[in-house]
Amino acid sequence: MCERKKGTLAVISGFSGVGKGTIVEALVRRYPYALSVSATTRDPRPGEIPDVSYHYITREDFEERIAKNDFFEYTEYVGNYYGTPKSFVMQKLEEGQDVILEIESDGALKVRAQYPEALLIYMIPPTMSELKRRLVGRGTESEEKVAKRLHQAVTIEMERARVYDLLVVNEDKEACIEELHHMIQTREGKKPSETDLLDKLEAEGKALGM
Ligand code: 5GP
Repeated sequence: MCERKKGTLAVISGFSGVGKGTIVEALVRRYPYALSVSATTRDPRPGEIPDVSYHYITREDFEERIAKNDFFEYTEYVGNYYGTPKSFVMQKLEEGQDVILEIESDGALKVRAQYPEALLIYMIPPTMSELKRRLVGRGTESEEKVAKRLHQAVTIEMERARVYDLLVVNEDKEACIEELHHMIQTREGKKPSETDLLDKLEAEGKALGM
C-alpha cells in the first residue's frame, strides 16, 4: 500500500508589530494551508471572531485541557494562556496537509522539541526604525509599552530568532507572502547563521537606544 506523505508543520513567529498576522492571513487565503486556531484565556478584541481568531475559553477550562494533554504546546504570555490544540494539527498532518501555527517563540521551541521535523520561520522587519514606526502606527500601545516591546525585540527575541530554521523579511507584503510559501514548500531560504540580518538589526536597535 502506498503511504500518504505527511504534511509540513510550519511555525511562524516574529517581533511584536512585524505584521505576521496580516501576512499569515493572506497566505492561507491564497494557498491551501490548514491554519491552527489556538485556544486562549484572553478576552476577544474588537473585530475578532470566536473560533476563527481564537477559541476563547476560561482559565479553568484551559487548565482542564492541559491536564488531559489536549495541547500540542501551550504557554503563558503576558498573563494569559495560549495553546495549540493537538488533535487538529495531528489530523491535518496525517492527511497530508501543510499546517501553519502562528505562535510566540517559547511555544515554537516546545513544538520543535516534540516534533523535530517542524519548520521554524522567524519574521523580521527591514529595519528596527520601521518596526517602531509600525508599532506606533498601530496605536494600540502606550509609548511605554512600545519601548518595552522594542527592547524585548532587540534582546530576548533576537537571541531566540537565531535558533529558528529560516528568516523572512517583511518589507513588501506581496514578496513576503510568496517567500513564505516558497520556504514552506521547499524548506529553503535564509538561515540565521548564514546572513548578517539579525546582527544588523541588533546593532541598529542598540544605536537607537532600544
Ligand atoms: P495576541 O494576544 O496578540 O493575539 O497574541 C499574543 C502572542 O501569542 C502572539 O505572539 C501570538 O503569536 C502568540 N500565540 C497565539 N496563539 C498561540 C499558541 O497557541 N501558542 C503560543 N505559544 N503562542 C500563541
